[in-house]
Amino acid sequence: MDEKLMHRRLRRTAVIIVLISLVLILLEGTATHSLQKNLNDTIEQRITSEVQQYKSIILDQMDANLKSLNTLASYIERMDLEDEEDFARRIDEANKSNDFISMIFIGSNGLHILSTLGKDVQIGFDREQISEEVSQLIAKNFSGEQGVSQMYPSRVVEADVFVYGVPVYDEQDQIIGALLASDNIDLFFRPLSDPNVLNGTGILHLLSSDGTFLIRSPQSVVREEMDTIFDGPYWRGNEEEAQAALQNQQSFFSSFEYDGSTYQFLLEPIGVNGWYLFCQNTPQSLSGEIYSMVRFMQLIFFVVLLMFALLMFYGYRSLRRHNRELRGLAYHDQLTGSDNMVRFTQKLQERIEQGNGFSVVAFNVRRFKFINELFGKEQADLLLKYISKVFMRHIRDGEFFCRDTADSFYVCLGETDNRHILDWIGSFVSEIGKTTESYNSNYRVVLYCGIEVCTNADCPVEQVLTHALFALEHAKNAHSEQIIFYDSQLQQKRELDNQIESRMHAALKNGEFRMFLQPKVSLADGCLSGAEALVRWVNGSGQMFYPDQFIPLFERDGFCVQLDIYMVEQACRQIRSWIDQGIQPIPISVNQSRTLFFTLDYLEKLTTVLEKYQVDAGMITLEILEGIALENVDQLNERIEQLHELGFRVSMDDFGSGYSSLNTLAKLNIDELKLDRAFLMEISGGSGERTRMIMEQITEMVHHLGISTVVEGVETEENDRMIHEMGCDFGQGYYYSRPIPAQEFSERFMQGRSK
Ligand code: C2E
Ligand code: CA
Ligand code: CA
Repeated sequence: MDEKLMHRRLRRTAVIIVLISLVLILLEGTATHSLQKNLNDTIEQRITSEVQQYKSIILDQMDANLKSLNTLASYIERMDLEDEEDFARRIDEANKSNDFISMIFIGSNGLHILSTLGKDVQIGFDREQISEEVSQLIAKNFSGEQGVSQMYPSRVVEADVFVYGVPVYDEQDQIIGALLASDNIDLFFRPLSDPNVLNGTGILHLLSSDGTFLIRSPQSVVREEMDTIFDGPYWRGNEEEAQAALQNQQSFFSSFEYDGSTYQFLLEPIGVNGWYLFCQNTPQSLSGEIYSMVRFMQLIFFVVLLMFALLMFYGYRSLRRHNRELRGLAYHDQLTGSDNMVRFTQKLQERIEQGNGFSVVAFNVRRFKFINELFGKEQADLLLKYISKVFMRHIRDGEFFCRDTADSFYVCLGETDNRHILDWIGSFVSEIGKTTESYNSNYRVVLYCGIEVCTNADCPVEQVLTHALFALEHAKNAHSEQIIFYDSQLQQKRELDNQIESRMHAALKNGEFRMFLQPKVSLADGCLSGAEALVRWVNGSGQMFYPDQFIPLFERDGFCVQLDIYMVEQACRQIRSWIDQGIQPIPISVNQSRTLFFTLDYLEKLTTVLEKYQVDAGMITLEILEGIALENVDQLNERIEQLHELGFRVSMDDFGSGYSSLNTLAKLNIDELKLDRAFLMEISGGSGERTRMIMEQITEMVHHLGISTVVEGVETEENDRMIHEMGCDFGQGYYYSRPIPAQEFSERFMQGRSK
């Protein structure tokens, strides 16, 4: 996955988690709020209706008491006030038959009577004894109003009392006095201490209009002593609101926290003396339970939310870690720790988009498979890691590299100047060479390089890589260079390929493919022991093309099958011609492409040619490339066996240039092994000892297997002497002769071989 995309997804996941959490918190907040509001409303309704009931009980009681007092007052109308004694006795009786504590008559004529329960009735007591609260009421009565006094502490009963008072009229409706009866606060206590307030879950108090407790229920939830409710813990900053309500004799509903619980309360004016009923619920109340349930729900919700958030956070973290690991796997080469091809391609794409010039160099280690076998996988892995490290040291800011597979590396350089690129490669390669020499005895690691230079932004990634690889392939196949730029020459080569493909069929028909022969010399006696048929294409205008220019192309498009059989035919024709001329023929080796080798009618094709020219199969050696052996050893052996039955000899060509192993070699049923000329090149190139050892090892092993050895690329006398000393059987190379046209070969080498 694209890295940016992955980051974007991660970010989106995080935002979604946060949003979900916020929405959940909001939902929970709204739910709790509306639940609480509903609950408050319900509780308010309940408390209000309950308080209304108690209020009417109290008012009814007061009314009843005032009524009884008024009835007494109307009796007094008809009494004879002159007879003070009799009048005092009647008041005393009336007092006893009611539940009042005391009864007072204040006459406008100065008659004062006081009847107190359990005491003798007093006539003409001192008015100074009358409290301020009662005096105010008396004044009211004299102005024709009945009423109730404020509370006051009574000296007579030593308790808080209050007084009812009504005016007394004579028969002419003139006020002649005031009749008062005192009652103690039991009247209020009864409902206030009623255990059934709010079904036992409520408490009532009596307050004055300024919030002072007149009667405080003994069951009060709040235990602290206090005079007014404003000294208590009942407020959430709304005291002033409450005070204003009290002043205006309005109801007031609110809630408060105490001892970890929430309570609701209602202040309800009674309508007498500015008195208020203060009703609150208890912790055992329904609301208390619901409140704790809401709290509990909130708690559970927060725990769930917290767990959700933690889980999401954990998930998010592991997703990130997992992604990082995946990215590591997806973008890094496990062996060297460097970028892999996927990452390299991404970086290259970014680089191209920047629009500055750059170059890409593709690297291969020459004969890496060999290093693997001879020095072991561990050493080979070390070498790859080492190459990575050297890359790391040599690249500069903005440059990057990767290992693709096996020994294939790519590096992207900021350079576009060919000379600078070569300098860079030079210093890189020489460091690799130096160090590898030191830890792999004196085996010199050689690197092939293919380079694509890109000077503008118009280079698709695919094209850059294909060009670098194409150049690398050429570097591998080229005989002299190890570093090749993809340039106009290679471009021309591509164009040439196209031309060749369009003309090859006609060329075969027209006999433009010519057989050149190159001698194979016996090292034991220096005598000619055979020849290799090498194809040349000479077109209509006499221009000659070498196999390197067209064989790889023919191998790809399958034309090689026809060409190779054609070459077998040319070889047979040549042998037949020598025989017919009375010349002792020599065996001819013909190169066989992989496709041909496994075609179904391969054997028939060969026998047809042999029969046509009446040539013995023993005169033909079929050369196969070592790459074939990589694929399926059993299948290959089977084919070799069939060819042996027909009498052909089979030779393995270019051994050591590719990836086939000594182990595979031992399993193959071949007759001859041709050591690639790269061996001799290396020896002349400097890394002599090690290569020499390898050649010797191979030769020795091959001899044990009964296989003869041919060394290719013998160019000098020294080469010749050396391979002779190594115990090789045959030599082939420019030192003996270049490949020459068959005709010339016959003249030069065959004339002396008459039977
Ligand atoms: P090869 O089979 O390894 O042929 C040997 C090549 O090495 C020839 O190149 C030959 O010219 C060259 N050579 C011989 N001695 C020396 C030497 O001392 N020094 C140097 N530097 N080179 C030397 P050529 O003819 O260009 O052929 C190249 C390759 O093309 C051959 O390699 C072979 O693989 C392929 N080829 C040639 N003819 C045919 C053919 O008819 N059919 C198929 N399938 N492949 C062919
Ligand atoms: Ca060959
Ligand atoms: Ca060869």
